[in-house]
Amino acid sequence: MSELLIYCNGEYVHKSKASVSVFDHGFLYGDGVFEGIRAYNGRVFKLKEHLDRLYDSAKAIALDIPMSKEEMSEAVLETLRKNDLRDAYIRPLVTRGVGDLGLDPRKCPKPGVFIIAQYWGAMYGDLYETGLTGVTVSVRRNAADALSPNIKSLNYLNNILAKIEANAKGGDEAIFFDSNGYLSEGSGDNIFIIKNGKVYTPPTINNLKGITRATAIELLEEMNIPISVENLGMFDLYTADEIFVTGTAAEAAPLVKVDGRAIGNGKPGPVTKKMIKAFEVITQNTGTPIYKE
Ligand code: PMP
Repeated sequence: MSELLIYCNGEYVHKSKASVSVFDHGFLYGDGVFEGIRAYNGRVFKLKEHLDRLYDSAKAIALDIPMSKEEMSEAVLETLRKNDLRDAYIRPLVTRGVGDLGLDPRKCPKPGVFIIAQYWGAMYGDLYETGLTGVTVSVRRNAADALSPNIKSLNYLNNILAKIEANAKGGDEAIFFDSNGYLSEGSGDNIFIIKNGKVYTPPTINNLKGITRATAIELLEEMNIPISVENLGMFDLYTADEIFVTGTAAEAAPLVKVDGRAIGNGKPGPVTKKMIKAFEVITQNTGTPIYKE
C-alpha cells in the first residue's frame, strides 16, 4: 500500500514527512479547531454541515481560516482522490499557526491548515450488535460560559479526562453531566434515551451540536417516532428503556448498561435498531460525490 498523502497548507505531503512546528499554538495550547467527517461509498456525508461547523468553531475563537469554504471543500475531496479513498474518516484541522512561547494569538501570523483522510471502519466493532457499556463520570463537561462544548476545538482534554475515567471503570464510553446535573453527552458522541416509545435528547447548550445528532432527529421524524429535545438527568438515564449514542466516528451505537444497571432488557432495543438501519441507508446513499459520477 502506498504511503498516505496529507494536505499540509496547500501541498500534499507523505505521512512520514507531514509534521507541524513545536511552536504551532495548536501544539502548544490546543489553539485551533477541527472536524471529523466520514465518506461512504464514494460520497462525503454532510460535507457542507461539517465545514459550516468548522468555520463557526473558528469564528468563535476569532481564527480566520485562510481559504474559502469552497476551497476547503475541494481540498477535502482532492485529499480523498489523491489517496484513492471511497470510504474514509476525514480530519480537517486549522491551527492558530506558528508563534512564540507566549499565548497571544497576535504573534501567530499564519494559521495552519491540514487534512488527514484514511480508512477507518466501524469504531466499536461487534458492539453495534451487543451494545456498549456506559459509565457516568465525575468530571463535568466544560461549562458553556468557560469553553463552550459547541466549539470543536483542538483542546479535547475535558473529553480525554472523561475517557480515562471510563476506561478505569471498565466502560466503553463516558457519559458527561454538566455542573448543574443536566445530561450532556459522551466523550465523542451525543446521547439519546428512549422511554415509553418516545425519544429524548438534551438541548445543545452543554454539548457539541452533533451533525449525526441532527441526522438522527430527522430520521426519527421521518419514521414518525416522537422525539423531544429537553433537559435530562441521571434518573432519566438509569430508567431508560433504550439508549443510543451518535457521532461521526461512532455512527449510531446502542448503550445497554450504565453504571452496572441494565438498560431495558440489557440488549439493543427496537428503536435503536431502526435508527442504526436508517443511518446506514442514509450514509450509503447520500453525500457529496468524491469522483465525477
Ligand atoms: N460530541 C463530541 C464531544 C464529539 O467529539 C463528537 C464527534 N464530533 C460528537 C459529539 C458527535 O458529533 P458529530 O455527529 O457531528 O460527529
